[in-house]
Amino acid sequence: MSSTGSSKKPISERFCTSDHDVVLKASDGMHFHFYRKNLKVHSEGMLPTGDATEQSTAEPETISLEESSETIDLLLQFMLRQNQPTLQNVSFSAVLALAEAAEKYRVYSVVAPCQVHMREILPQNSLEILAYAGKHRHAELADLAAVPTIKSSLKAVVESLSTISLDLVVSWVPVPYPRGKHFLITACLFKIRYRETWNDAFIHAQESLRMRFSQCYGGCRSAGTLSLHFKGQLGSLLGMDDIFVSVIQNDCRYCSPGLVAWKNEVMMTVKKLAAFSTHSKTWFANRIDGRALEDGESKIYY
Ligand SMILES: [Zn+2]
Repeated sequence: MSSTGSSKKPISERFCTSDHDVVLKASDGMHFHFYRKNLKVHSEGMLPTGDATEQSTAEPETISLEESSETIDLLLQFMLRQNQPTLQNVSFSAVLALAEAAEKYRVYSVVAPCQVHMREILPQNSLEILAYAGKHRHAELADLAAVPTIKSSLKAVVESLSTISLDLVVSWVPVPYPRGKHFLITACLFKIRYRETWNDAFIHAQESLRMRFSQCYGGCRSAGTLSLHFKGQLGSLLGMDDIFVSVIQNDCRYCSPGLVAWKNEVMMTVKKLAAFSTHSKTWFANRIDGRALEDGESKIYY
């Protein structure tokens, strides 16, 4: 970000007014001139607890924040009476940092546009979006982001979600991973887990393909090729149409109609699979007053 002022005290070009009554200092040292009243109206926790809206001292107070200047610049733009900035050309990491800051300071006007942006870019960054949605207990966004994570490795999902909550991992993974007392207790409670439902559908699809199309009277190898393509690829359940186009080269009058019917059945089964949050109802229920509860203040107990 460009700045004005001396090198010792860089000031944001966008937030450099002289009638300000507070200065926000980013983690990278950038200073932002702003207004206490706007912070009071749009956020919680940015001003020190018990802070009066009007400050009597002549020199505006400087508040140091943990967020970068890029995040604060975006965050403050949402706190002004003006057209809200578009996030279209903002990198995903910046949007994620903005969303985290919005949750932290409860800037509700920012949470919604961040989530709209995340929905639009899916299936990109699905694991990060699932982790964000899980952390802040946004069930709808988690449900959308969870679907493409079926393509991710178990290791990647566990590493991503376990930093937030073991409960979320249990909602995603099959037994017996990871192990531990807490896991075993929780696993008993979450009897049906997200990945298992996908795995069941996958196994069923493979078996019905093998049973129904073991031999083609026309001598084609479409079913066999399809079966090989599916082998071990749980993520194949996503994008079935594309797989069909690439695998079924020749239109066989003996098995093509049946294979299309099989594909439609599988796609319907996948569509009906229970959403991710239904396996973690307790976790996602712990949002009150527009915020996710912290660890240890759960309102629902097992
Ligand atoms: Zn055939």
